[in-house]
Amino acid sequence: MPPQPEDLLAGLDPEQREVATALRGPVAVIAGAGTGKTRAITHRIAYGVATGVYRPTSVLAVTFTTRAAGELRGRLQQLGAHGVQARTFHSAALRQLQYFWPRVQGTELPRVLDNRMSLVAEAAGRLRVRVDTPRLRDLVSEIGWAKVSNVSPETYPQLAAQHHREVSTIDAETVGRIFLGYEEAKRDRGRIDFEDILLCTAAMISDHPEVADQVRRTYRHLVVDEYQDVSPLQEALLTLWRGDSSEICVVGDPAQTIHSFAGAQPTFLTGFARRFPDATVVRLVRDYRSTPQVVGAANAVMSVAGASSLKLVAQRPDGPQVAFSEASDEASEAAGVADWVEAQHGAGVDYRDMAVLFRINAQSPPLEQALADRKIPYLVRSGERFYERPEVRQTLVTLRTQQRARAEQGDVDGASTLDQFKALLGALGWTERPPEGAGAVRERWESLAALLSVAEDLEAERKAAGTSLTLADVSAELDRRAEAQHVPAAQGVTVSTLHSAKGLEWEAVALLGVHEGSLPFVLATTPEEVAEERRLLYVGMTRAERVLRVSWSRTRNGGGNARKPSRFLDPVLPASMKTSSGGAASTARRGQGRGAVLSVHCRSCGRGLNDAAERKLGRHADCPATFDEATLELLREWRRQEAASASLPAY
Ligand code: ATP
Ligand code: MG
Repeated sequence: MPPQPEDLLAGLDPEQREVATALRGPVAVIAGAGTGKTRAITHRIAYGVATGVYRPTSVLAVTFTTRAAGELRGRLQQLGAHGVQARTFHSAALRQLQYFWPRVQGTELPRVLDNRMSLVAEAAGRLRVRVDTPRLRDLVSEIGWAKVSNVSPETYPQLAAQHHREVSTIDAETVGRIFLGYEEAKRDRGRIDFEDILLCTAAMISDHPEVADQVRRTYRHLVVDEYQDVSPLQEALLTLWRGDSSEICVVGDPAQTIHSFAGAQPTFLTGFARRFPDATVVRLVRDYRSTPQVVGAANAVMSVAGASSLKLVAQRPDGPQVAFSEASDEASEAAGVADWVEAQHGAGVDYRDMAVLFRINAQSPPLEQALADRKIPYLVRSGERFYERPEVRQTLVTLRTQQRARAEQGDVDGASTLDQFKALLGALGWTERPPEGAGAVRERWESLAALLSVAEDLEAERKAAGTSLTLADVSAELDRRAEAQHVPAAQGVTVSTLHSAKGLEWEAVALLGVHEGSLPFVLATTPEEVAEERRLLYVGMTRAERVLRVSWSRTRNGGGNARKPSRFLDPVLPASMKTSSGGAASTARRGQGRGAVLSVHCRSCGRGLNDAAERKLGRHADCPATFDEATLELLREWRRQEAASASLPAY
């Protein structure tokens, strides 16, 4: 039974209802976390479908992460809006490319490059620029930034100076030439990279009126969630998709801009009403997600000059106080979180309703170890495109060939279908018992276990219907899900970076590693970068519906430098836990008031710095970094993540 239109409006407050019934754009919703922005747009789409104003297939809803796109799809299904496309920017664009490229170019679409490291290294090598791995990663991430910011190799040196970009010790001219060499090497190999997915789609639409026409006739209604994180390139694509039509609805929260390193510009959101003077602009202030305790703490963290969050008014009843916990080292911090997970579980919270979030992936291994020690099920990596994972692809292909072979042999094997499937998964790395600890082996196992659970569910269904399961059924079901990008439901505690938790919510959330150097991250030095780190903490805190726990550790492993709780916690920490901050934290803070760059003296040799680039770097270009090896590894990890996010924000 499809829902009645009025039912779809019943669960909305007056402002949300205004959004849901404004079926003709332009519409913008600017509102804080948990105020029901995503709810308002999903209901708007469902309402448009239920009233017959929208044909489901003519709606395209886009967002930034695979997880968020999955969440949108799930909510739309529940509201009876079947057939609506809810995708990431990249997946929507890739689909259009796959369809139009062969028609327009007369050739197959070039393959998407998995990893651009080797091509960048090759380009640097040709120019005789020596690069070590960390620098190579810097280059890769810088090229990603340039591409999402619509910066070409030719204009790079000039724009890099304007944006105070700096790549290790390589000058901007050289970076521009390496960038150009990379583009050429890529073209020679017949490949495109992640940004090219958007760039080629944009070019195809602007160069071919018939393509533009068809795209615009297909998707008449555009809806964008998390619009505060849109990059200039994504904005350009939206404009091309839209054409003359102003049938566009965007929602976002400027206080949650956390992708500016990937070119995100919240001004697209805040300037929407200026670009569309006839837009319906709605603001929401009621927070439906979190308890007053969580909302109060999140508000307080953002209540500093210049942080400009929209004050939230909690609608939910009281819950427990936000808990803060300091541990002596990372292992005991992780153990504390794992104990907390167990305690929450004991108190009736399902593992699936819990998440542990942190700044960078390198913080996850001790936690995963602690969870594994207690046999707590958990999930990592759900931010990636599930069906693109090599082990998942391999399973699907093997399954197709194997089941065909079996059909030809008349399937004489006595083993049950599930056992046959387990044997197949076993060959690819699945075992009955999950492997101990973290890492690639564990991740692979998790993917395969998720596939097995699909087969198990299917078997249960078949049994209930009195029929039996065949490998062909499993193969068909998985192919169907891959086509619909239906990711198997999470079975355990979510373990994720703050970045990929955006837009999602859990009953109980633990934030791990909330100390100086991690939040703000050690490399975030300009006032803008520090402000973005604060927003990241805000995003993390506002993921919690009822229980929120924040922890940090005094040292990494018992020795070394002492750490302090994050300065962002100052407004919310109990007095007994506060330390007078100084040291590492103070450099950026000193700079903050002047709105200028941070340090004036070299962190390494202590003498004065020469220019803006060095001040941003915090040391003379030729002085060694003073970080210890552990911090350096964190830095590299951060860069890697930046590089990955810069090219993959949309998956
Ligand atoms: P974020 O900025 O984190 O993406 P959001 O503004 O998109 O948050 P939603 O995820 O849409 O917020 O809503 C937060 C929670 O509040 C959801 O569980 C949603 O179902 C619930 N909610 C939203 N509006 C209402 C309402 N009017 N009545 C009851 N619950 C609501
Ligand atoms: Mg949302």
